[in-house]
Amino acid sequence: MKKYGLWIAGREVYPKGRKTFVSLNPTNKRAVASFCSGSETDVNTAVAVAHQAQKKWAALPAPQRGEVLLEVARLLRRRKQQLGRLVSTEMGKILSEGLGDVQEAIDIFEYMAGEGRRLFGHTTPSELRSKFCCTMRRPLGVVGLITPWNFPMAIPAWKLAPALVCGNAVVLKPASDTPLCAYELVKTCEEAGIPPGVINMVTGSGDEVGAHIIRHEKLAGISFTGSRVVGEFVAANAGLKRVGLELGGKNAIIIMDDADLDLALEGVLFGAFGTAGQRCTAASRVIVSKEVKDEFEEMLVKRAERLRLGDPLKESTDIGPLINENAVKKTHRYTEIGKKEHAKLVTGGYALPEKGGFFYKPTVFTNVKPHMRIAQEEIFGPSVSLMKVNDVREAIRVCNGIEYGLSSAIYTNDIQKAFTAIEHIEAGITYVNASTIGAEVHLPFGGIKKTGNGTREAGILGVEEFSEVKTVYIDYSGKLQKAQIDVDKRK
Ligand code: NAD
Repeated sequence: MKKYGLWIAGREVYPKGRKTFVSLNPTNKRAVASFCSGSETDVNTAVAVAHQAQKKWAALPAPQRGEVLLEVARLLRRRKQQLGRLVSTEMGKILSEGLGDVQEAIDIFEYMAGEGRRLFGHTTPSELRSKFCCTMRRPLGVVGLITPWNFPMAIPAWKLAPALVCGNAVVLKPASDTPLCAYELVKTCEEAGIPPGVINMVTGSGDEVGAHIIRHEKLAGISFTGSRVVGEFVAANAGLKRVGLELGGKNAIIIMDDADLDLALEGVLFGAFGTAGQRCTAASRVIVSKEVKDEFEEMLVKRAERLRLGDPLKESTDIGPLINENAVKKTHRYTEIGKKEHAKLVTGGYALPEKGGFFYKPTVFTNVKPHMRIAQEEIFGPSVSLMKVNDVREAIRVCNGIEYGLSSAIYTNDIQKAFTAIEHIEAGITYVNASTIGAEVHLPFGGIKKTGNGTREAGILGVEEFSEVKTVYIDYSGKLQKAQIDVDKRK
């Protein structure tokens, strides 16, 4: 098994005395790679190195930074097959999704390369004569990026690309379940021409490496994607840094009585069981009109039972394993909770240890009430709760009756119901006649309520998390002009 060090100043380093940890293939529990458990000292070194490198990087005109990003996209595209297989091996999602993970990284680098020629500010008239007003974007400086394992290449890329094009240097701490995916991405960035020291990666535990990054006084920003619990810790400990938080979800698909049920079924299967339910946008609640609830339930259970669990690299596999033992235990804990709450378990509800990896049978609960814990809390596994409602208003009320607000969907052919849902659902994203998953990189991504702190990733807003706005006034009148004070003289 190959051993990897930390990535600092453009090379691998193995500080003395550090412990190591191993990332596992969740399909068979075999070791994939060994990584170094970084320390606070290593974070300090990485931050110092990043500060030195940042100035030069920021001095490069933004369009030139964009060209380097485009080269990253080109290299990723060339390596897509190999990297997609790595994602499926280290994280466990099926190969088509592993390739999709890499494609998302390609897309965001390509998109943000174009930002190098935009990074728009505003120009606006002055209230005074012979005075010009505008805004421009400046980098934050050095930012800390902390990422989860469920999109092991896409999420680091979603943060790296905008951070870099804005002229920042970074210290990245990837999830300890998928460090090799992050490592390969960082190496690809450097091969494409990102100068040494601009990207530094310190692997290790959240409690030590992550917490130190969050509190580090020399970091100007933190971009965090992960669980709500850790997100709240970030918010409480990051001080006055710029903080972007992308946290959990409890997303619902609403199915109205006029919906195309076959289409809705495909959306629910993909939303609830794709990536074994381990997406922040996974559909873990299905809110169905009473007229079609029984019919839809029967259709769903039939298909859920036919899903093939197995090796994510095999084309015949529909669902891969969960990420680790804890994820299996957590999913099962919620199965027990659902049963105790008197929801009806109609299929699944058990682990499959005999398969050799962290597999859990796709699980469907019905007769679920909106207040039940299985309908309120993020399970992050292949478990979905069906709830019956009378009409679109009640459906929206149930949809909104949770603490999160990330994604949502409605299946209907009635334009009034569709627009009522778009207007009243409390979520950062609403799909009509499509599942809760499927973000595209040129549109903003993020949630409301306890899904985050209002920042958006990707799209035209994606650079806001990683840039300061400077306001510029240029007075070419040749005399002292006083805003507000000279206002009466104008008459
Ligand atoms: P997690 O919060 O356990 O870990 C995320 C990262 O934070 C990891 O790198 C981890 O090592 C680090 N970390 C842990 N404790 C820390 C601490 N005290 N200080 C600093 N860093 C710390 O989340 P996870 O299990 O890796 O990912 C699953 C969660 O991520 C789910 O809740 C999911 O909804 C969420 N998620 C959200 C989005 C989004 O865009 N909204 C996308 C993907 C995943």
